[in-house]
Amino acid sequence: MDLLDDFFKKNDVRIGKDFEVKPAIHYLSLHDAFHNYFISGRSLKSTFHFIYSKEKQNRKNLSYNYSGDSKAVSMSLLGFHRFIELHLKHILYKVNPLLTVNFLDSKLNVFEYLNLEIDINNLRTVDFSEALSRLKKCFKKYNKKSDEYINVLEGYEFLFENESWNCIRHLSKWRNKIMHNGETLPNIIAYDYFISQQVIPLVNRIFNADKSNYGSYQPHYFKTETNIDLIGEFLKVEISLKDAMEDVKTDKFWFDLFKIFHLKELGRCAFKQIYQGVNVKACEVPQDFKLYKERIKRFTISEKKDPNFVSINTCNCCGMDSLIVYRNDVSHISWVDSDYSYWFKCFNCDYTLKDNVADPFVFGLSKTALFPSSQRI
Ligand SMILES: [Zn+2]
Repeated sequence: MDLLDDFFKKNDVRIGKDFEVKPAIHYLSLHDAFHNYFISGRSLKSTFHFIYSKEKQNRKNLSYNYSGDSKAVSMSLLGFHRFIELHLKHILYKVNPLLTVNFLDSKLNVFEYLNLEIDINNLRTVDFSEALSRLKKCFKKYNKKSDEYINVLEGYEFLFENESWNCIRHLSKWRNKIMHNGETLPNIIAYDYFISQQVIPLVNRIFNADKSNYGSYQPHYFKTETNIDLIGEFLKVEISLKDAMEDVKTDKFWFDLFKIFHLKELGRCAFKQIYQGVNVKACEVPQDFKLYKERIKRFTISEKKDPNFVSINTCNCCGMDSLIVYRNDVSHISWVDSDYSYWFKCFNCDYTLKDNVADPFVFGLSKTALFPSSQRI
């Protein structure tokens, strides 16, 4: 064996053998996908409102200024694709582990198979399209009274409905464009339409079909600390393809696109709101977490001295009284009112927005209006 092969073999991490994970390891891909989707709006915070202007909606502007952080766009699409590909193999594995691999690739495999010596972990797994094709064949092969159908396949019939099929097909196309060429990405309208209208609904159905395996587990970023059901709110947004394609888009379309922007910002901050308890407890600094809330409180109160300070509010993302509203000092710009722009920042979870994208209250994402300008509506 090559020295480098030997080195890697000694130092690999064999999930499922060295340690167990629950839920299955492919949920890490879902974490990556959502993390990247949520941060994809971050760089647009100050200028997102310009997208509303018809003259800003030309092809180059939508590509250059509004496709968001292209790294996040690529990585989220790859993450969602990887999650779905691994989940398809997870279903096949439960029907029969041999369905996930190309086990008759070589004559050696045939003899190992005949001698019942085959180790499927050493075999190459099938690619995405073959996994999909094998799963489709499973639905034909196993009748509805078979154990395979009742125990595994029954919950996944929706994968072959038109909606799911279209989503999987397009996710696969975007994945191939990114992996094989990398020069074409969806612009923000195509991206947010695709993820909110097709990918998240499909991921939600897969999660629901699978969740009986994990008890009460739910990815922590599906809900904020204040119980805003982010996935539920994404599902409430209904954008028709016709509206998304119109040159002159409806007010409803823009309202929905702005709501998606708000949900991404809430998701970005909700994603960080978890303590990853992977350290040995005895090695933690004991007072750190105990005093954390007090520290945030002291920091928040000290901001009252800021010349632009307006108010301290309860954060609608993390629930702490650490969200500060500021009014921008715009005295140097002659053509705007003194209360031209408000903005807020939560010093606990980092939830930060300007009033250029409207108040979260307008979208039903805050119980109270945060900006004084919205309170006057
Ligand atoms: Zn917060």
